[in-house]
Amino acid sequence: MTGTPLHTDSSETDVLIVGGGPIGLMLACLLRRADVEVTVVDRARAATRHSKATLIWPRSLELLEAADVAEDIVAVGHRIDAVTFNSRDDLLRAVDLNALADTRYAFGVSVRQSTVEDLLRRRLDALGGVVVAAECTAVVDRGADVTVVVDDGAGERELTARWVVGADGVDSLVRTAMGAEYEGYDVPAQFILADSRLAGDIPRNRASYFFGPDGSLAVGPIGDDLYRVAWSVSALETARPDDPSHVADVIRSRSNLAVDVELVHYSAAFKAQVRHASAFRSGRLLLAGDAAHRMTPASGQGMNTGFGDAAALGWRLAGVVHGRLDSAQLDVYASERAAAARQIEERTSAQSSHVDDWSSTRRGSVGPIPVMTTEQLAQFDVGDRVDVNYRGIAVGLGIPIALDAPTVVCWPGTRWTGDRWAGDRWAGAIDELAAKSPSGTRIIDAARMGNSRPPCVRTDHEIAAIIRPDGHLEGRYPLDEVVDRLTAAGWR
Ligand SMILES: Cc1cc2nc3c(=O)[nH]c(=O)nc-3n(C[C@H](O)[C@H](O)[C@H](O)COP(=O)(O)OP(=O)(O)OC[C@H]3O[C@@H](n4cnc5c(N)ncnc54)[C@H](O)[C@@H]3O)c2cc1C
Repeated sequence: MTGTPLHTDSSETDVLIVGGGPIGLMLACLLRRADVEVTVVDRARAATRHSKATLIWPRSLELLEAADVAEDIVAVGHRIDAVTFNSRDDLLRAVDLNALADTRYAFGVSVRQSTVEDLLRRRLDALGGVVVAAECTAVVDRGADVTVVVDDGAGERELTARWVVGADGVDSLVRTAMGAEYEGYDVPAQFILADSRLAGDIPRNRASYFFGPDGSLAVGPIGDDLYRVAWSVSALETARPDDPSHVADVIRSRSNLAVDVELVHYSAAFKAQVRHASAFRSGRLLLAGDAAHRMTPASGQGMNTGFGDAAALGWRLAGVVHGRLDSAQLDVYASERAAAARQIEERTSAQSSHVDDWSSTRRGSVGPIPVMTTEQLAQFDVGDRVDVNYRGIAVGLGIPIALDAPTVVCWPGTRWTGDRWAGDRWAGAIDELAAKSPSGTRIIDAARMGNSRPPCVRTDHEIAAIIRPDGHLEGRYPLDEVVDRLTAAGWR
């Protein structure tokens, strides 16, 4: 799918996103769904053809529901039920995604990044969003708005936006324009990947990691009868990634998988690096995805973390653009997602440095592998995800949450101490809350739900749970504090 030629685009927009990779496209879809004018500028004329990310974890699938692409991704992707961590011969730990509770996605999906980008581009197109095929060459925050210079090959032109998001990857121009550093370190182990057709006894719905004295190996299905085979090497030049027999030798020497390699469809070598932007926001400029953070490939977390950024930014930017949310919430975005990225970076780095430790001892005698738990792998423990996810599903119950405003789930408590909430008083209090809350706030009376009320309000005392549009819990308070809390969170 190609981008739109520059001349058809308006020169003014609410939000301009530099970078139409998975993160920029997801953010654009979220903004369009909230009726925000958005323009994406990408120098590539089509989705990436490089074999990059393949693994999408449960929390991302929940978040991608808001962009309306989760179902499509699940439909075209290959289901991953478990991830195993092994020494060459023994299972060390199995992470069973099917064991996740309170989610419609108790599994991961393996799907090519290019397919995800295609699906998002199609969705954006249907939502009336524009992807301009041009290179962004300069970004200047002028205080009242931002000037963006783009070049589509026929010449340069200036666009104006109220907000600019850099989703322009590791070499981000927007990050440079912000004056932010991108500090970190290189991981000593380097990696080879070979997307290959395998034959033999190989699990079809499981990704497997093997750790041994020669280094690590990852093998997982990516659909179309192909498997991603990736392994660590101490020096890239020693690798022969195109040769099926070499790939088969690596698999046999580092795992107990009895497989043959019939074909190497795509191969690449890459260096793992860890980087973190010193700021995720400066004035009217914001960062998301790899532009903000880069992590090692361990357990496939990079793009998933970027989806979390897009979800955390989309509703905030929409609220700010529509004048319903204080722009200070964009600073909250910046600090919240910087902390989330650090948390995930630490886990992936621990797993990667273990590879180096283990290889360098050549004895496999280093300590236990820092394997992620199921919740960590799924990114369910990042932020306060509640038991309510996008498109309104309080799991299995069909409770709608608002996508561009807060939702408040109210529960009077089982100890209805007579006169506090007796009779019509509770219904009256709910009506009053609805009248005083910022516009668009969705109020849900859990007292009308019987035993099916969501776990976030399963208490015996009065509680009101404020749920953000990204399905995260803002907090739980007595009913009469809710309006103040919503106002303090910047809702108008
Ligand atoms: C081998 C490999 C395997 C991986 N596997 C996984 C995995 O399984 N799971 C996972 O979560 N992550 C994985 N990742 C990481 C994942 O690929 C990245 O995190 C993801 O691509 C980040 O998306 P993004 O949209 O932030 O940036 P990108 O995908 O880099 O997209 C940036 C876009 O910006 C455009 N652009 C850049 N500069 C400009 C400019 N000046 N003007 C206009 N356009 C511009 C580019 O053309 C590009 O389209 C893997 C990475 C690699 C290399």
